[in-house]
This record gives sequence, C-alpha cells and structure tokens, in this order.
Amino acid sequence: MREVKHFIAGKSTIGHSKREGEIFNPNTGQVQANVCLGGADDIAAAVEAAKKVQPEWAATNPQRRARVMFKFKNLLEDNMDELAALLSSEHGKVIADSKGDVQRGLEVIEFACGIPHLMKGDYTEGAGPGIDIYAMRQPLGVVAGITPFNFPAMIPMWMFGIAIACGNAFILKPSEKDPTVPVRLAELMLEAGAPEGLLNVVHGDKEAVDAILANDDIKAVSFVGSSDIAHYVYQTGTANGKRVQAMGGAKNHGIIMPDADMDQVIADFSGSAYGSAGERCMALPVAVPVGKDTADEFVGRMQEEVGKLTVGISTDPEAHYGPVVSAAHRQKIEEYVEMGVKEGADLLVDGRGLSLQGNDDGFFIGPSLFDNVKADMQSYQEEIFGPVLQVVRADSLEEAARLPSEHQYGNGVAIFTRNGLAARQFAQKVN
Ligand code: NAD
Repeated sequence: MREVKHFIAGKSTIGHSKREGEIFNPNTGQVQANVCLGGADDIAAAVEAAKKVQPEWAATNPQRRARVMFKFKNLLEDNMDELAALLSSEHGKVIADSKGDVQRGLEVIEFACGIPHLMKGDYTEGAGPGIDIYAMRQPLGVVAGITPFNFPAMIPMWMFGIAIACGNAFILKPSEKDPTVPVRLAELMLEAGAPEGLLNVVHGDKEAVDAILANDDIKAVSFVGSSDIAHYVYQTGTANGKRVQAMGGAKNHGIIMPDADMDQVIADFSGSAYGSAGERCMALPVAVPVGKDTADEFVGRMQEEVGKLTVGISTDPEAHYGPVVSAAHRQKIEEYVEMGVKEGADLLVDGRGLSLQGNDDGFFIGPSLFDNVKADMQSYQEEIFGPVLQVVRADSLEEAARLPSEHQYGNGVAIFTRNGLAARQFAQKVN
C-alpha cells in the first residue's frame, strides 16, 4: 500500500511516526494509501530544519525570493493535470473543480511574485518634533499553517506562498484526508529553487496540531477549518504567545430580490450550492427569496434544475459533482437532512441513499432541496457542508438582511438584484 510520508528538510521521511491514518478514494470507498500521523518529535525535526535555512533565506533579497515563486508558478502550470488528478482522487471533487483548486492557489503565487514591491516600507517625516518614522516589513522566522480537506492545494498556497516570499520558513500540517497534493507542492517548491527545509510538510491530527501550538520556535500560525477547532487553535496559540489567524465554518446566504435575473439566479445557485458537493467555504447553501412570487418562482425552477444535476465519479467529465470526502461526512449530511424533515421544513428533493452503479461503495449523495426552512431550526443554524440547499422565505429586504447578520456562520453573502441602490443599501445593512 502506498504510504504518504512527511517532507522534512527536503526529504520524504516517516520520521518518528508510530501512528498512521487511512486515505480513501471517495469514488470507490476503498483505502488507497496510508498517511504518517506525526507528533511533537516530527514537528521539532521540521522546526530545526526550518531554523537552519530561514536566516539566509530572509537575507536573500526579495527579488531573488520572487524568482523562486516565478519558477514555482511555472511548475504548477506544467504539472496542473497531475496535481488535479491526484487531488480529485483523494478529495472526490471533479477534475474541473480540482484544477480550479490548484489555479486559485496559483493566483496567490502570482501575487507573491510581486513581493519586492509588496514588502516596501513607509517613511513619515516629522511625525513629532525631530522624529521621523520608518516602517519596515520583516519576516517572523518559522511559521506554520494548518489546513482543511476541502481545498488541499489552494489553502496551503494561500499560506506558504506569501509567508515564504516574505522571508519566513514554513511548516505545513495539511488535512490528513487528502495529504498527497500538499507534499507534491513542497517537492515542486524544492525544484523551483527553495532551499531544503524552507517548506516542510508534517502530516497528522490533533497531536501534530498541539505540537505546533506548543512549539516556542513557531512564531505564527494560520488555521483554516471548522469553527470549534478554529476557536481552539486561536485560544491555545495566542495563550502561547503566537500570532494566530483562524478562519472557521460558513453558511453563506444568497438573497434574491423580485427584480433579479432569474436565469442567472438559478445557474448561480446550481453551481454554488451543489458544486464540489457543497464542500466549499464560499458555497451558497441558503437561498432567501424576498416576497411570495419570487419564492414560488425560485423554488419551482430550482426543483427542476436540481433534477438535471448529474452526480458521478470525479473523473467523469459529465458529472456536476463527485462523492463527498468520507463515509462519516456523508452520514453527517444525511443526518442533517433527516433533522430538517423532523423540524418541519419541506423536503422537495431528497438526495439520500444514492448509490452509483459500479461504484456502490463510493461516498455519493444526491442533491437535496428544502423549502420553508425557518431561522430557529437547528439544521439551518449549523453548517451542513454538503449538497443541500435550504430556502428561507423573507417578506422584505430588511428581514432577509438580518438572517446572515445574525447567523453564527455568516461568512459571506450575495444579493441578486438589478437595482444598484438596493445592492448598496443591502451592503450597508449586512454586517
Ligand atoms: P477540520 O476543522 O476538521 O480540520 C481542519 C484542520 O484541523 C485539519 O488539518 C485537521 O487535521 C485539524 N484538526 C481536526 N481535528 C482537530 C482537533 N480536534 N484539534 C486540532 N486540530 C484538529 O475541518 P475540515 O473538515 O478539514 O474542513 C472543513 C471546514 O473548513 C468547514 O467548516 C469549512 O467551512 C471550513 N473552511 C473555512 C474556510 C474559510 O476561509 N473560512 C475555507 C475552507 C474551509
């Protein structure tokens, strides 16, 4: 069985790992590889490797660091197909979405190519009597990133691309569910000219995360994942004196005004509520049509649209979306659908119990559509992170705008309208 190892000091290693996790192929439901689950010793080894090279890297002028990022960008483009295929086989998102995952990370690398300009400081003459002020941007040293399963290329690149271009060394702890692409990214960084030890990948679960949070030499931590863990990482990391940014869960709302272009609304919800099986932090799992006529038209047309969606294996070019990442996640989504039914919402399309012929053990779930969801329902208040669209009807823009503002996971929000004034007022109301 293939084994996904840590990548420390430019080398693939099982390090001190005694524990292993399983990596599934969500299309078949079978284990396709094992992953080393690291702990404090592996994090310490990665930090030592990072500390060795970071001072020299920081002393390398920014335009030379940017050249490595340019080369890395070219390598990403050259290896796009391979990266997308690997990503798709562990995550389950279709190839087009997998390419999008790499592409969005690549765009951050393009941004990092501009680091010589981005790192310029400021100078204020005469800030006080006889006092001039210089502001300089300097690297922190060794920093770390802890990333979720749903964007195994983009999110690591958000983090290490900028941190490394700024002169830091990086420890990446990717999701243990789809860890192969992050390792390939580290290999490509090496090929691009990054010194060994500048970007290290240590796999693992809570044990590796706790080791990062406790390690005094790691000066800053960036986390993306579910909200409970985000709170934990933020509280523990800051209590240990680190700079921490922690991004958590999401339940984004799309508000539909009576004057909206309904063709566009349907196409956009079809892509954003169900694309990538709803496993996107910027998915639109809640639709809020304003007024009865808008709601009736939206619900009728959406029900028809959902009937046209094709669920298939992630390499099927015809598939709208593929399987979800794990059996446990599919079960959680199905439990939320059941909860919605019990709470009294109207289940118009039920995606549960889907089995794909020839891939009967894959983690597939069909699209679900709920109407008449209410704000006090638990299935609305929590994040489902699956191909489930919940329609919450509102009588006015004011009522609609309150929903995302009061939601605990009000991460992003969209308004569909042809009226610029309504869009502007909406932007001022939602916070
Ligand atoms: P997750 O919270 O389960 O895992 C995220 C990371 O934390 C992984 O590296 C994981 O190994 C680690 N982890 C898991 N359990 C831990 C524990 N008990 N202690 C310490 N670390 C632990 O998240 P996920 O299921 O991989 O990703 C999906 C979540 O990420 C969703 O909630 C989604 O909304 C969120 N997300 C948010 C954004 C954003 O920008 N706000 C972007 C993408 C995903």
